[in-house]
Amino acid sequence: MRHSNRPSGLLVGVLCGLLLLPACTTLSVDEEEQIGNEASRELRKELDFVRDEWVVKYVRDIGAQVVKAAGPSEYDYEFFVVQDDELNAFALPAGYIYIHTEIILEAANVSELAGVIGHEVGHVALRHVARNYNRQRNTGILYNAAALVASIFVGGHAAAGGQMLGQLAAVAYVNQFTREAEVEADRFAVEFLPQAGYDPAGMVSFFETLRAKSGGDNVPTFMRSHPATSDRIAHTQGLIEEAELGSGLKITDNGQLELIQRRIELLTRR
Ligand SMILES: [Zn+2]
Repeated sequence: MRHSNRPSGLLVGVLCGLLLLPACTTLSVDEEEQIGNEASRELRKELDFVRDEWVVKYVRDIGAQVVKAAGPSEYDYEFFVVQDDELNAFALPAGYIYIHTEIILEAANVSELAGVIGHEVGHVALRHVARNYNRQRNTGILYNAAALVASIFVGGHAAAGGQMLGQLAAVAYVNQFTREAEVEADRFAVEFLPQAGYDPAGMVSFFETLRAKSGGDNVPTFMRSHPATSDRIAHTQGLIEEAELGSGLKITDNGQLELIQRRIELLTRR
């Protein structure tokens, strides 16, 4: 696959970043930024970005609304659209969020896309990479660096894709972290999407799409640590019911998503 070399390049970048970190401390926001900057620089070389201003602005506007709803943040969020037909999205530490074109194309409405974005913002805002890193330090596990890289991908994972994880995903400890982190990121999205004006119901319907695309709950090995999609559907649905949301939340956006989808199709000659 064309992105098969992605983890190795990124690994080098992040390892370099880590080597600069002072020993035996927890990961600070500054250090998170250092890792995020380093990793995003690597990705800049390895990914195909959509540069079309309409497409990028559309995603950034949704992202900005979710970020604003979540309140003051220590991070400067930045949203990127990656031309990639794998159904995936992920986040790097300190606010770098990447949405694949396939996510936009498969979204049935804006609430589904906002759900993915909200989930990824959740991973950043809840500092999942930093927390994972700190926890590993405390237990003295030696593969910190590789695990951190894996957690960037696994932990920042909204969708069923992810062949790029390769052997890094075999790190069991990270997988353990991921299960909890996924649930927390879902919870974050259910909490803040309504405040940004979006109906979180799109999260549930998009999970259904993921389940259909990944062949039911029979997910590939690298995804086994993730909560099974059916569990996520039930859990998220439960959170939405508990939230007792008012009416008027946005599910569609007057055909804007459809225009963006057509634009992506033209740009990528799908
Ligand atoms: Zn996730």
